[in-house]
Order: sequence, then C-alpha cells, then structure tokens
Amino acid sequence: MELKDCIALRNQEFKGNSQNDAHEFLSECLLGLKDIGHTLQMGDVSYQCPVDTLLSFQLQHIRSCRSCGVESRREEISTYLSLQMVAQGTVQNSLELYFNESEVEYRCEQCGGQVSSLRCSFYTLPQVLILHLKRFCPFTLTKSMAPLQLETELQIKQRTEDIAGRCGESPQVPAPSAGSGCCPAAPSVLEGASSSEASSITQELEAGTEREKVEGGSSTYSLMSVLSHIGTNTDCGHYTSDCAEEGGLWLSLNDEEVSPTTQEAVLRERASTAYMLFYTRK
Ligand SMILES: [Zn+2]
Repeated sequence: MELKDCIALRNQEFKGNSQNDAHEFLSECLLGLKDIGHTLQMGDVSYQCPVDTLLSFQLQHIRSCRSCGVESRREEISTYLSLQMVAQGTVQNSLELYFNESEVEYRCEQCGGQVSSLRCSFYTLPQVLILHLKRFCPFTLTKSMAPLQLETELQIKQRTEDIAGRCGESPQVPAPSAGSGCCPAAPSVLEGASSSEASSITQELEAGTEREKVEGGSSTYSLMSVLSHIGTNTDCGHYTSDCAEEGGLWLSLNDEEVSPTTQEAVLRERASTAYMLFYTRK
C-alpha cells in the first residue's frame, strides 16, 4: 500500500480504490524509479538504475524506399513491448507479428518514390523482457478473452547487420502510431490496445550517434512471471500474479493470499487471462 501511495503522489489516477490498469501502474513505477535513479546518480555515480540495467532495451526502426532502396533509421529505448494477440497463436507468434515488415506511404526525398517498407528489430536486449498483451480495446472498452499459448521459453532475435557507419544520412523514420506495434493489424489479429502508450518510457535517439556494434544471433528467455487480469472488461476485474521461485517452484499471489502452484498450472490456467508476461534472459 505504501508503494501504491508513492505512485499516487506522482499520478493522481492511482489514488484511492478506483479501477486501474496494471500496465499503466507498472509504467508509472518504472518512470518513478528512473527519475529517482537520476537523482541518486548525481550523488553517487556508482549507482546503477535497475530500470536501465535490467529492463531497458533499444529498438531500431528502419524505413527503406521500395524504389531506390535508400534507408533511414530511428532508435528508441523502451522497457516493454505491447503485443497484438494472434488468433489461436503463441507469444512467439505475437512477437513475430510485432517485428513483421510493413508497407507505409512515404515520399522518398532521393527518388520521389511513394512507398517504403518499415521494419523493426531489437538493437539491444534486456535482461528482463516485459511483454504487454493488448487485451483491452481503448475504443470499445472491451476485453479479449482469447487464449494465448504461453511458452516457457522464447527465442529473441537481435539484428545481425552492423550499419553504424551508414546512419543519419536521410530523414528520420516516422514513429509508428500509438498502439500499432511496428505494423498494421493483419485481419487475423485480435484488435486491442492499451491507452497507456503515452506513459511508456521511450526515448528517441538521434540518428548518427555513436553506437556499440551489436552481435547478431538469438537469446533464450525463460518465463518467470505472469500477471493476469480476471474480469470481463476495463471497468471491473482483479489482478493476480504467478511468479517462478528458485528450484522450479511457482507461487500464486492473490492480494494477501500466497499459495504454491506449478508452471504447468500457470500455463494452463492463465492462457485466457494473462495480461503481462515477464521473461528473463538465460
Ligand atoms: Zn527512393
């Protein structure tokens, strides 16, 4: 309750007992931690903000002209991905959809071409990857109860090419519209978006800034926690959380009630209620 009160000091929305969104609350917590981290760092340069060291990662958006191939890039720091759900799909499917190449209308300054492709990839990977599932539609205030197959492990690909020397020559890649991920929704995708995009910790990096060379390849992430929303729409419901403990044990946390559970039970019982997923890098 003290933590909640602290967050309510930053954002009045979280005052009292009104219904709120767990994803928005977490975003506010992380923003608060980051702010405090900056203050602490001024007093002690050895202090490392856990949001920076554990959760932050860089995405790179690349737009290429379909006519002449000229590319422009934009980097973005974030602490989570908001994923659309794929009907009958898995978490990995939702991730793949997020990183699918899409087509955008954009007038190329080099050749006047009208169509560009837009693709997005991980430039750096976090220690803990937070995935937010777009179960709530901000327009209809309805919730998708569709099951999502939760995987205990994810393979996360990192970009493989080193393009450090070729940046900053062309205009910035337009930011994808809030809630769209990197691509427009395919017909098979269950629509839905959180209204909290604006509160995400994102920060655009200037094109052409010096960057570390990124080794390509993929990393394995293991499921460590599932946050579930039990309820039928945005106005009502209850949050519970299941967390992995050491030694393969799992705990189910429901307000003040803490009970043992198993990974199998979590995967089975939370498929339709899972709202946020936490994966840790192996
Ligand atoms: Zn062009």
